[in-house]
Amino acid sequence: MIKRKSANGKPARAKEAGQRATHRLLKEQLILAGKVLVAEGQDDFTRGHISFRLPDDPNLFFMKAHSIGLDEITMQNILTIDLEGNVVAGTARRHSEVYIHSEIFKARPDVNCVIHTHPTYSIALSATGRGLKCYSQPGALFHEALGSYTDTINLIRSHAMGAGVAHALGNGRAVLLKNHGVVVIGATIAEAVIGTIMLENGAMVQLLVEAAGDPAPEFSRADIEKLKADISQPEQFTINFNYLVRRVKRRG
Ligand SMILES: [Zn+2]
Repeated sequence: MIKRKSANGKPARAKEAGQRATHRLLKEQLILAGKVLVAEGQDDFTRGHISFRLPDDPNLFFMKAHSIGLDEITMQNILTIDLEGNVVAGTARRHSEVYIHSEIFKARPDVNCVIHTHPTYSIALSATGRGLKCYSQPGALFHEALGSYTDTINLIRSHAMGAGVAHALGNGRAVLLKNHGVVVIGATIAEAVIGTIMLENGAMVQLLVEAAGDPAPEFSRADIEKLKADISQPEQFTINFNYLVRRVKRRG
């Protein structure tokens, strides 16, 4: 068989191969992220989802499928979805709450990863109607960066509801969905995963402090902002995420 090599064919094929390799790498990261989230107690039956925007097409994103756990994501069951919530590749069932992801990706071009889970302490904190205090270092990550969505306890099953969550997020890092769960964003998978874990930890410490009663004052805004800047460095998220990946692999 004679292979035709046009002048434009070669670069196009090389570009396609590069995209495939990038997509494969991203899917592998999503699979590992799901396992880390479960290892860190973020699972809730088969609920919870994670998505990542395609670097070569910002109008599309990869997303975990419905009916499987976060630790059951595979190369085969990851869906490709557009910003209207339509599945454009993949045969698995789509989460009805896809609009959390699509509407945040629409509203925030800087966001590449969205995670939604139902973690116990964050939900308990959301039910109090109080915001997250900086009673611990993880709390500082969300200082003046945590929104609150209070329209409904129900699933986010429409464009309008997803837009409501995106609005509650604003320029922040996460949203507490009252009596429901959390939505945490990141420029990278590492940032969103570590953010989700830190939010739950911050909520847990706060509820313990409040249960103990009579909390001492928080530190000054300037002091908290300094720590926030330090722990918001991309390198911090990568180091912590990579450690959790190694740990989850060791545990099998
Ligand atoms: Zn939910």
